[in-house]
Parts: sequence; structure tokens; C-alpha cells
Amino acid sequence: MTLPSDQEASGRTFDDSEIALLSEALKSGTLTSTKGRFVRTFEERFASLMGVGAAYACASGSAAVHTAVAAIDPEPGDEIVTTSITDMGALAPIIYQGAIPVFADVDPRTYNVTAETIEKALSERTRAIIVTHLFGNPCDMGPIMELARSRRVPVIEDCAQSFLAKSGGRVTGSLGDIGCFSLQQGKHISTGEGGIVTTDDERLARRMFLFINKAWGYGDPNPDHYFLALNYRMSELQGAVALAQLDKLETVVRARIAAAAKLTERLQSLCGIETPFISQDNVHTYWKYCLRVHDDVISGGAPGLARLLKERGIASAPRYIQKPAFMCEVFQKQRTFGESRFPFTLARAEAVDYNPTRFPGTFEALHSVLALPWNENYTDEHVDYIADSIVEAAESLQQ
Ligand SMILES: *Cc1c(COP(=O)(O)O)cnc(C)c1O
Repeated sequence: MTLPSDQEASGRTFDDSEIALLSEALKSGTLTSTKGRFVRTFEERFASLMGVGAAYACASGSAAVHTAVAAIDPEPGDEIVTTSITDMGALAPIIYQGAIPVFADVDPRTYNVTAETIEKALSERTRAIIVTHLFGNPCDMGPIMELARSRRVPVIEDCAQSFLAKSGGRVTGSLGDIGCFSLQQGKHISTGEGGIVTTDDERLARRMFLFINKAWGYGDPNPDHYFLALNYRMSELQGAVALAQLDKLETVVRARIAAAAKLTERLQSLCGIETPFISQDNVHTYWKYCLRVHDDVISGGAPGLARLLKERGIASAPRYIQKPAFMCEVFQKQRTFGESRFPFTLARAEAVDYNPTRFPGTFEALHSVLALPWNENYTDEHVDYIADSIVEAAESLQQ
């Protein structure tokens, strides 16, 4: 059986509604968002869906995180606490902005940072906390926000994988000070490449709008380039597609949750396999569906199970990003700007201490995780096929 894939039409939701708006955008002859209306309308609708005061579209999820960090405006060498399991697009912007990513460990059951792991990573120099709601499963935001507020540190939520996920009844991207989303090919909704930031804080909103626009004060009486910033704008072509995609988001999320519930029901009592752990009061929106595979029960662990699933046409990812982010060369060798190693040269020793013994949860999480591709176009037959394949594979590997 061939499963729908988010890398082409079978696993995406593009149809005549995108074509209609794209065609309108093209016929208007205005493809820049500074003059057009598609990106602006997308931003307004996204802000209202999130229940926040402002949203600004941008070029990618990486650009969204860069915009968020730039809005907070750390001094060179200031620290931003983040997670050891995330996309590099959530980390590189911190370094580009002259700040030091400081890694918090994760809970191996959820693959997410927690208030406890964040607290251990905080210092006098912490200027922000970035939480990633990994795989669509929200972090426990109650205790995290309480900690952050008590230390007066702003929180950026990386929601690239968590569209419409909820923690404590509120949607991710509206819980912290800034939310960042990606519209890359494989996310819940997509414009190929693209991103958007959200905030309820007027000062941060203003700075984010400016950062996306070369810090040019569009609409001001005497505009100038107020500070160092890039052109991170989304084009009207992407804006048109984004607008059509946004109408489908709730349906996409509902379908992903329903298919996941069906798989969880089938796998719940399978020995050696754990279905996703979701904290009370949280809603997981399944960018991926992750299993924890216990190698004391399943011979060969997650990679062993993945090999058998591959034979059945299911391309799962054991270890997800393979190694913790801090094991990549950019951190290990501090390869940044020329030979300078800037901004790592400004870092406290403890902030850049990547000794594995400091990250037990991260290594355990990556050792046992098996990320299954997940999709809104999975039918009951697809989910049954996946469930049957996992049950058969796991039973053949049980020791
Ligand atoms: C995809 C992703 C990003 C980066 O988004 P791009 O659009 O690829 O730049 C950042 N963070 C997380 C958690 C992601 O999944």
C-alpha cells in the first residue's frame, strides 16, 4: 500500500481554491505584500484565529524565529534557552542575532522541554526562552509561563509543528509572548516555503513588522531604516496560497487527530511500544505520530522496527534528527563568521558545555523515538495498514 505523502499532491490539500486566489493575485499585477492585499488578509485572519493582536507573515519558519529573537533584541553574548531536539532553523537565528543558544534537556516521554529542565538552564544572562511544541504535542505551558514570568524572561513558542495544538485550553502561539510558525512543504498547511509570527504585545509587534521590512517605517510621517534588519517578506503569490490553505487548517487538524486516535487505540496494549504521552489538558495535533520503542522488549529497538516497517512501505524516522542539536558541527566547532567563532567567544563556559551527561532525557528520547509520517489524507484503510504493520513487526521482534 502507498501512503499519502506530504511531499506531493497525495498528502497535501491544494485544489482549485488556491488556484483561484493565485490567479487573482497574478492578474492584479501586484506581487509584493507592501502594496497587495493577500498577505495582509492572511495575517489578519491568522491573528484572529489565534486570538492575538497581531500576526506578520515572513519568508520561512527560520525567518519567523529570527524575527522573534530580533524583536527581543538581545545584547551580543546574551543567552536564549532552547531545546536540544529541534530543527536547525530554530537555532541558527539565535546565533545570527549574536546570542548564545543554551540547551535545556527534554522529558523523554514528550520530547519537550519542561519548567524543571528550563530552570536548570537559566542564568543572569538569559534574555528569552524558546519552547518547541515538538511533533505537535504542546509543552506544559502553565508551569513554564509561571517560571518565565517570575524571572521576567519573555517566552517564544516555536509552533512550526503545532498548528492549533492546545495547552490548558489555549492554542499554541497565543500562550507565550511571541509565536512562530512555518509554512514549509511538510507542515500542517503550506506555501512551499513561508512563515508567520504572532504576538499580543504592541511593542514586539512593531519591532517584528519592522524586522521583516528592513526596519523601514512604512506609513510613518518621516520613515527611515531604524535598525539592522532584513527583507524577510512573504510574496503575494505565497499569501494567496496561504489564505486558501488557512481555510482548511481546522479540517486538516481534525483529520490528523482522528486518525491518530484510531492508531493509538490499536497500539495501546502492544508490549514494548508506547503511544504518544499527552499531558492532561493538552491537545496534540500530530505533525508526526511518535512511538517510544523499548529495546529491552523489541529487539533492535526503534531502528529494528523501522527496518521492518520500511519493507511494508512505511518510511518512519528512528532517532528523528539523529543527534541532539548541540552535537552538530556548528556548535561543536563553533563555525560561525569567518574564523571568529563569534558569538561563542562571549559565552559563559557552562552555557556551551555540551557534555552528554547533562542531557540524559535528550539521549533517551532520541534513542527510543520512532517518528511515523502523519497525514490528514490517511483513510481508515491507511491507518489499519499502519497499525497491522506495527503490530506484526513488533510481535516478530519481541524478545
Ligand atoms: C520546520 C521547522 C522550523 C523551520 O522552519 P523552515 O520553514 O523550514 O525554516 C523551525 N522549527 C521547527 C520546530 C520546525 O519543525
